[in-house]
Amino acid sequence: MTDLTDLTVAEIRTGVAGGSFTATEVAGAFNANVAAAQQALNAFIVATPEKALEAAASVDADRAAGKVLGKLAGVPIGMKDLFCTKGVQTTAASHILEGFKPEYESSVSQRLWDAGAGMLGKLNLDQFAMGSSNETSYFGNVISPWKRNDGGNAALAPGGSSGGSSAAVAARLCPAATGTDTGGSIRQPAAFTGISGIKPTYGRCSRWGIVAFASSLDQAGPMARDVRDCAIMLEVMAGFDAKDSTSLDMAVPAWEAGLSGDLKGKKVGIPREYRLDGMDDDVAKSWEDGIAWLKDAGAEVVDISLPHTKYALPCYYIIAPAEASSNLARYDGVRYGLRDLPDGAGLQDMYAATRAAGFGAEVKRRILIGTYVLSAGFYDAYYTQAQKVRTLISRDFTEAFKVCDVILAPTAPSAAFALGEKSADPLEMYLNDVFSVPASLAGLPAMSVPAGLNREGLPLGLQLIGRPFDEQGVLNAGLAIEARAGFSARPERWW
Ligand code: GLN
Repeated sequence: MTDLTDLTVAEIRTGVAGGSFTATEVAGAFNANVAAAQQALNAFIVATPEKALEAAASVDADRAAGKVLGKLAGVPIGMKDLFCTKGVQTTAASHILEGFKPEYESSVSQRLWDAGAGMLGKLNLDQFAMGSSNETSYFGNVISPWKRNDGGNAALAPGGSSGGSSAAVAARLCPAATGTDTGGSIRQPAAFTGISGIKPTYGRCSRWGIVAFASSLDQAGPMARDVRDCAIMLEVMAGFDAKDSTSLDMAVPAWEAGLSGDLKGKKVGIPREYRLDGMDDDVAKSWEDGIAWLKDAGAEVVDISLPHTKYALPCYYIIAPAEASSNLARYDGVRYGLRDLPDGAGLQDMYAATRAAGFGAEVKRRILIGTYVLSAGFYDAYYTQAQKVRTLISRDFTEAFKVCDVILAPTAPSAAFALGEKSADPLEMYLNDVFSVPASLAGLPAMSVPAGLNREGLPLGLQLIGRPFDEQGVLNAGLAIEARAGFSARPERWW
């Protein structure tokens, strides 16, 4: 029998519905992989094998009773530990939330359970989703299942902040996982680990019950091994939610049914400002491959200009910390998780001690930057200016989409780097987000699909950016690349 953990979401769904295997068998197989990899990869903060089995048993019972099964019936998934899960510890990978068991379920996770998915566990991430390498988690680094082909044994970053999600999907610990993307946290880890991931248009997925980082940017989305699985997951995760004031009140299209890799009549824009000086040769080559593949799929390729691209990174690193400093004010030692109350201390001391002990260094850095750019004397110089620049960046895309339907660019400037390689210098780490933050600032749907391996044998991703609400265009261009890239590499099991 095939290894159940090699199956895609679509294959599991069909196999369970058709009786080729039971949901309980699938959950058992993934539970075993999760347990076997935990020590080496540290992809999960908490494993919940009993939850996966419980959901599976209910699907198997429904099937036996002849009931109509949900869209994800029998599919066990990993849940980024930024989504509140009722009664199950939710930490955002921070000490300050350790022990916090929400009284409620996030809207996105509830939709997944309602569709028949089961939870394998809560996935590790960068603390409060701040990072690009999963090195800021209080619960330790996630180790990528990939290794360089140089015979060395360097531990590589799975990307961030959804690094537990990317490592788990790539290592076959789950067929799909949730991610969140504020400035690239779905796309960059997907690219680093040879999987696919899509951040939908801002507002498609409810933010209710997702620990907030930067509310005007945060979006949930799926990470999975192929484009079809992303479409299936996203269809379930998306949808209007009255509990999120920025939720889009629009019907969720049938993305899976609409999948087509035929791009005849479509125009693909290649942004000239993304061609950075000294760009990595392998990244440049994969971009060229992507252009050729999309032409082969029938698309016309056009040069476009996004003139404010160079301001995107500084703009993001003002707006995101500003919003974070405000969102994270709620962690005060009273309402959630950790409380540090020194002997004889007053209320202010308790706040200070809790926050000093509870937040990691990167989170403190963002709170300091955010508080600074919002302070009375500097607000106009930084925050107001960044908001204006954000509008210009959005306008660049609006102009570009007058002459093209979808934009193709690399997802990240390099393949996965080794742990520790960039963590000493925050600016170098932030540079990793150079290709992903513009679409975030503009709220556009964007996806990463695997494009091939670099000279070190590591995956590279290509990014597709679409018009607002045009997830279908993004998925279809992703599918056209997927069909031609023929990416079948997977990490050799060493864990
Ligand atoms: N790497 C970016 C940051 O550190 C993006 C993170 C994210 O999208 N959550 O802010």
